[in-house]
Amino acid sequence: MPRVLLLHTGGTLGMRGTPLEPDTYAAGLTETVPELLQIASLDIRIICNLDSSDIGPVHWTQLAQSIAQSRQDYDGFVVVHGTDTMSYTAGALAFALQNLDRPVVLTGAQRPLVAHRTDARRNLVDAVELATRPIPEVGICFDGLFMRGCRTTKSNVHDYRAFDSPGCQPLARLGVTIELGEHIRQPTLPFFCDARFEADVVVVHITPGLRPAMLEAMLGGYEQLRGVVFAAFGAGTTPAGAHSIAPLVRKLVDSGVEALVATQSTGLIDLSLYQNSRQLLDAGAISAGGMRLEAAVTKLMHALAIHPERNARRLYLEADVAGELA
Ligand code: ASP
Repeated sequence: MPRVLLLHTGGTLGMRGTPLEPDTYAAGLTETVPELLQIASLDIRIICNLDSSDIGPVHWTQLAQSIAQSRQDYDGFVVVHGTDTMSYTAGALAFALQNLDRPVVLTGAQRPLVAHRTDARRNLVDAVELATRPIPEVGICFDGLFMRGCRTTKSNVHDYRAFDSPGCQPLARLGVTIELGEHIRQPTLPFFCDARFEADVVVVHITPGLRPAMLEAMLGGYEQLRGVVFAAFGAGTTPAGAHSIAPLVRKLVDSGVEALVATQSTGLIDLSLYQNSRQLLDAGAISAGGMRLEAAVTKLMHALAIHPERNARRLYLEADVAGELA
């Protein structure tokens, strides 16, 4: 029988009460969902028991290291996680676990396992099943789809279809049978784990009329700042002229801060396309290409931690590491 390790971090799936709070019954998950044991021999490890808004780089490191250390003892891994930040954790794991050779399946639920009409039971069963399949990727299993983790975003707060992976077809569709996508990645080099993340990164969401002086005052007040992800308009544009943030970007880059430009929209951005995007490239910013904001943030945090040297860091940021760009 395949062996699967389930790592519990918290989230609605294992919550109870009003307001919903993390509970401890996840340790006895197989008593509540005994069918899991028909699929795999399952071990359960509690990493933490948190609302996922409390999960961050420290937990990503712990999760990635737990998976790396136990990798050879299991055929696959399931991570039970709150939906709110699941896409960030999925991105972080995809970057930390390089050349992965077995599945790491994140899942959670919109309604707790103890609630009627819960989606938790199905998501759990699907996730454990996927963890036994030849899908060597970090992904999110939700509502019958398995999506590439570093391409996902939480797109709906109420629907059972809570996640989307714009521009990337699901890796697997779980219907009567399980259909695997042709684009599932395969490792070509030996596995390794580097689970360091630099937390001093901020996202700046550009809005019409934003005053660069206000941004400069906010960012300049924090000396430890290491990276900024600018969530720009459409193809990567930001205001020009008196409202241009290009001088601020130049100042940040010259002081050693890394500036990555992503889009508030979806799709591949090309900063050379418009004068209003090119100004950021000329100021020393890097394009996030097709990366979702969640992937851009986690990749920048990872890049800053693992590549202290700027050229190597930039090459890493521009390379497709886990399918986040392609
Ligand atoms: N607030 C919860 C969390 O992210 C939401 C969920 O799990 O769906 O932990």
